[in-house]
Amino acid sequence: MKQSSLFPKTRKEAPKDAESINHKLLVRAGFMDQLMAGSWTLLPMGWKVVTKINQIIREEMNAIGAQEMLMPLLHPKEIWNETGRWDKANDIMYKLSDPRQKEYALSFTHEEIVMDLLRKNITSYKDLPVSVYHFSTKFRNELRAKSGILRGREFMMKDLYSAHTTEENLMEYYEKVKDAYSKIFRRLGFNFKVTKASGGVFTDKFTHEFQVLSDAGEDTIYWRDGDPEAINEEVLKGDKKDYKSSKAIEVGNIFPLGTWYAERMRAYFTDEDGKKKPIWFGSYGIGPTRVMGTWVEVSHDNKGIIWNKEISPFQVHLIGLSGKGEDIYEKLKNAGIDVLFDDRDVPAGQKFNDADLIGIPVRLVVSDKTGDLSAQAGEIEYKERTSDKTELLDFEEVIKKIK
Ligand code: ATP
Ligand code: MG
Repeated sequence: MKQSSLFPKTRKEAPKDAESINHKLLVRAGFMDQLMAGSWTLLPMGWKVVTKINQIIREEMNAIGAQEMLMPLLHPKEIWNETGRWDKANDIMYKLSDPRQKEYALSFTHEEIVMDLLRKNITSYKDLPVSVYHFSTKFRNELRAKSGILRGREFMMKDLYSAHTTEENLMEYYEKVKDAYSKIFRRLGFNFKVTKASGGVFTDKFTHEFQVLSDAGEDTIYWRDGDPEAINEEVLKGDKKDYKSSKAIEVGNIFPLGTWYAERMRAYFTDEDGKKKPIWFGSYGIGPTRVMGTWVEVSHDNKGIIWNKEISPFQVHLIGLSGKGEDIYEKLKNAGIDVLFDDRDVPAGQKFNDADLIGIPVRLVVSDKTGDLSAQAGEIEYKERTSDKTELLDFEEVIKKIK
């Protein structure tokens, strides 16, 4: 991609109302744009990052046998009345009506919708277990929409739902999802803790949150060395003095929901013994847009964002000075490298500042000084975003380093 045609341009100043680091940096660097409080466009580079996050999530979901699908976001009132959540979720749910006064909800989650699918399609124990997921927009009337893309009123979620014949089977799968989530956040490169949290109003069990340690977090979590899991302040019993603690950002949450939904929505299966029984159910969410914002909160410096190679919008930022670089750009593309080529006619200092702001892990410079392959072999300047060290390498060495 040539930077001269990349939409949009970077900005020198953060928006005046921006309070959080992810808001300032992601807007300045051209990854996202705010339409109104809590409502964001993912611009081309932002969408590339979220697509990479989604792909890691998708691979780990498929690895535990979950099947991807896509569900609607406009839901009839009747289905939400079946569990009583039309009234209970009043604060968070966006409701609307059409010209014939029929009422709808915009999806803030999908348990009821999946339960409807299950009761229409599951009849026997032979049809279970089942696990399905989708990536889609969630709408929530969030009051505190001030933390940039960490708290959208419209945001992306990957939500997985699983259905089982017994509690043991549900909890066995729940542990599998917990491991899959840990793999996802390890692959993404986060310093996180699996954290016991409250189960909300629908279950007497704990749920588990995936909490990234960060001062920008709204939650406080506690742990002792050697414990496999941390504890959210909201469920901590005992003396806080015995624990270490940190602020943290919740990036994922998994819920064992029991038979609460199946009983209210009449989702039964016929078991081996011929008896009708309610389906055991769990739901599991990750917010990819919050994940992107969280990465920026924990990985930046005073110049800009610092992506890792797993989720960086491009593998390499190639900076051409004095009209150089076009041939290296072509060669990198031919080698299968996803490269952003700064071909703009602007001062070198501006190019370097933008490279630091955008935060791609590897920066290459080709100039009169360094020459290029057609002129003089072995003269590309290589620098990593996390280091001040530059080295002069030839093309093959550059490729080896990147791959
Ligand atoms: P919070 O406590 O931060 O409001 P939640 O517990 O209500 O979040 P869940 O219902 O557990 O959120 O949603 C699952 C995941 O979806 C969260 O772990 C988070 O990654 C993401 N998420 C939830 N709310 C938002 C939001 N308003 N904006 C962006 N992502 C969100
Ligand atoms: Mg949660």
